[in-house]
Amino acid sequence: MIIRFKPGIKARELTGLRRKLTELLPGSDFVSGRGFVTVTASAPELLSEQLAAIENLPGIYSTDLSVREACPRVVKAAPPDLDALFKKPGRDNFIFIAGPCAVEDAASYLAAAKKLKAAGATALRAALFKPRTSPYAFQGVGVKGFGIIKKARRLTGLAAVTEATSELQLSAIKNACDIVQIGARNMRNYELLKAAAAVRLPVLLKRAPGATLKEWLLSAEYLLKYGNGEVILCERGDSFSKPDKRGLNLEILRAALKTTALPVIADPSHAAGDRFLVPAQALAAVKAGADGLMIEASLRPESALMDGRQTLNIRAFSELVKQIKKLRAM
Ligand code: PEP
Ligand code: MN
Repeated sequence: MIIRFKPGIKARELTGLRRKLTELLPGSDFVSGRGFVTVTASAPELLSEQLAAIENLPGIYSTDLSVREACPRVVKAAPPDLDALFKKPGRDNFIFIAGPCAVEDAASYLAAAKKLKAAGATALRAALFKPRTSPYAFQGVGVKGFGIIKKARRLTGLAAVTEATSELQLSAIKNACDIVQIGARNMRNYELLKAAAAVRLPVLLKRAPGATLKEWLLSAEYLLKYGNGEVILCERGDSFSKPDKRGLNLEILRAALKTTALPVIADPSHAAGDRFLVPAQALAAVKAGADGLMIEASLRPESALMDGRQTLNIRAFSELVKQIKKLRAM
């Protein structure tokens, strides 16, 4: 961490400040420069623990805690065993999570699940609880969909990913699903993150629109600190609805890939908001090094209860999978 002192600080004040910093950060290394000090902490968490106290000292101008210092567990995390997680021993490790925006009914979901598997999906989107901006919009089928997810898993052998919008849903999700999604709206719901970590289900963590790399990885750090080592990061763009802010943030995706060994995937569907723009976004994410994709795809997007505009039909999904496999083989 770099700690900068206020300009013009007196030598006596500086001596006092240095003494205080040594007390707050015992065992740490201090390298002094002109107007600043660089600290290497004895334990990485110490800097975050003492940050508020340091910033509050008179004579401090600013502090700069790097992403790596703020997220020590994310930096050191071993990647989860994707083969085990996605039940696909020995195959290419690229993740294709596909399915409609929401489970709507058993017949259409199960038929789509079978076709998506045949087209190359390695896991199913299986959302039952939809966090909607409008309370009048379709909210998802809720708990009665768990039976449908169980059937889809039996039928296809694929892992199911479902979003938790409340900690009350977590134990039922643990019973019926393989991976719990913490969506963009809940990336900063720290109590939900702690609760999701506690149930020990693998977590797919989306980046909230506008969240910095540090904010996103700090949410992952919560999961790791509270006991869950199996985390997949998912970049999904910077907008919920503004057309001028659409698109994946590939810079953040690349930065995440450089910072952690946790898998980083992309959701081109919510990033693009338009099915005609999804393939280009998906391919760009693959070129940027993404470890996988989450894609909205269903039998009849034109009659979907939500997000149909950005949902691919099975043929388009299958075509995209082929293009991506070709690209990755190059
Ligand atoms: C979703 O994947 O179903 C979803 C709601 O996406 P996001 O949280 O990225 O908006
Ligand atoms: Mn959606």
